[in-house]
Amino acid sequence: MIYCCEEHAEYALETVINESGRPPALQPVEEKELLTKTCEYCGQPAVYVVANGYSHTKYGR
Ligand SMILES: [Zn+2]
Repeated sequence: MIYCCEEHAEYALETVINESGRPPALQPVEEKELLTKTCEYCGQPAVYVVANGYSHTKYGR
């Protein structure tokens, strides 16, 4: 999971894609977390969470 600001959302998406090889899930930060989470790249308040999209799926590779 990567927390990021609006500016770095694309950056975070690419990072997750490169790491997992799967389309990530981009979600808005929950309201209660808005002021407690910061962007991993610039330290500004985070507005998005990028998560590995389908981590529970494992095919035999
Ligand atoms: Zn940022």
